Amino acid sequence: MNAKAKPKSKKKLSLDEARERAFGDRTGKMFSNHRRNAKAAGRWVDYDLFALRQLIRRAVTVGACPYCNGRLDEFNFSVDHRVPTSRGGGHVLSNLLVCCVSCNLSKGPLDHVEWRQLMQCLNAWAEPVKRHTLARLRAGGAQTRSAPAAAAAAPDPSPADAAAGTLDSYDEPDPEPEAAAGRPADPDHPDTPREGA
Ligand SMILES: [Zn+2]
Repeated sequence: MNAKAKPKSKKKLSLDEARERAFGDRTGKMFSNHRRNAKAAGRWVDYDLFALRQLIRRAVTVGACPYCNGRLDEFNFSVDHRVPTSRGGGHVLSNLLVCCVSCNLSKGPLDHVEWRQLMQCLNAWAEPVKRHTLARLRAGGAQTRSAPAAAAAAPDPSPADAAAGTLDSYDEPDPEPEAAAGRPADPDHPDTPREGA
């Protein structure tokens, strides 16, 4: 028995390789989700995977979340609808904003103006209070990604509902940090339930 033997398929990726893999995998899944969600609403997205990737590539090259100014990279980007589709926002490229997973989860049903107003308010608070409040928003966002009316009626949807895919999303359910791909897990990243997984 050779205790040092390792499975050869688990070749360790360089950080650049891990970034590219995360980018390719995550953008592909997001585009599929976008198309599926639009179709479910009887609509079509007005962009293709190439255009979505260009949008995201530009944002991660800038490297800062437009909402919180935190780090934005291939592992933690998310695509937000400025105006949530649940509130009439279009499934169109011009309604997309690349931000960090944390902001997208915390933002919930707010539109981009409301979320910036809330961030402004939070930024005026003491850092620990701000962090605590954001953590609570994220936790709530991960758990109650349901239509506003349903969320109001049932503020604590069971994980079973989420797992069964019966919860609709306020916005794109694409937070999927996949930190294991090569970067240490960000403690701020919530372990979000996957839709349709
Ligand atoms: Zn952010």
